[in-house]
Amino acid sequence: MKGQIVKISSDLYFVNYEDTVYPCKCRGIFRKEHITPVVGDYVLFSREKQLIEEVLPRKNSFERPKVSNIDQAFLVTSLKTPDFSLHLLDKFLVLMELNHVVPIICITKEDLVDSMELEEIKNILKYYEKIGYQVVFHTELSKIKELLKGKTSVFTGQTGAGKSTLLNTLNPAWNLETGEVSLALGRGKHTTRVVELFDFYGGKVMDTPGFSSLELTGYTPEEIRDAFPEFLNCACPFQDCSHTKEAECVVKKEVSANNILESRYLHYCSFIGVDKNEN
Ligand code: ZN
Repeated sequence: MKGQIVKISSDLYFVNYEDTVYPCKCRGIFRKEHITPVVGDYVLFSREKQLIEEVLPRKNSFERPKVSNIDQAFLVTSLKTPDFSLHLLDKFLVLMELNHVVPIICITKEDLVDSMELEEIKNILKYYEKIGYQVVFHTELSKIKELLKGKTSVFTGQTGAGKSTLLNTLNPAWNLETGEVSLALGRGKHTTRVVELFDFYGGKVMDTPGFSSLELTGYTPEEIRDAFPEFLNCACPFQDCSHTKEAECVVKKEVSANNILESRYLHYCSFIGVDKNEN
């Protein structure tokens, strides 16, 4: 039968199948074949033998924390303390696209900005919705619960943005305080915190703040370009247009016409290492 590893403790793998967790061992051949199951893996296992027989192909996998098959990531983004940053937001969205994780923008601390600033930010967020991203406010709990159903999710974001508060509001039995602390203390050190997936509103949620160490290095400019969904609809006359130096580039025209958010375009240029001031 097919289950999902929700926890690993020394050589025991806890496999969830229809809301029951079975502690399992791995087939001896795994070691020989260098197969190391991680939390999040979908596996074929025998309930009777309590044995994992096969690790199914992963749709994505991460090193820190060691986890796989993440469906979606809530980027908890505060409008103040820490300040709203479109650069961080765009970088995160690109990283999620590149790792096949659906990003969900979750806004917090909207009460800390004045109404004019809030209107401005809401207008910008409308653009993100237009290009296909889900945007929720932390107060929209029923919407968030609905999104969690049937998915393996991660809540991530800057320290202080309000991840723990949000998760504790969704489920007071949760206490993410420790996760937040260990992330802050663990920066630059090798923490051996165990990752675990918990049942959460009909889905699974990772118990540690995720993806703190992801970087854009190691991706080609073409991969980064294709992680901007609004560029894909632009029919540039040049095949494989980089949208930077090419004349007649449709993306650049759309930026000038304010149909593509200029900040997004400038972030794209900076992510691929092109200084727009030189052009
Ligand atoms: Zn172009």
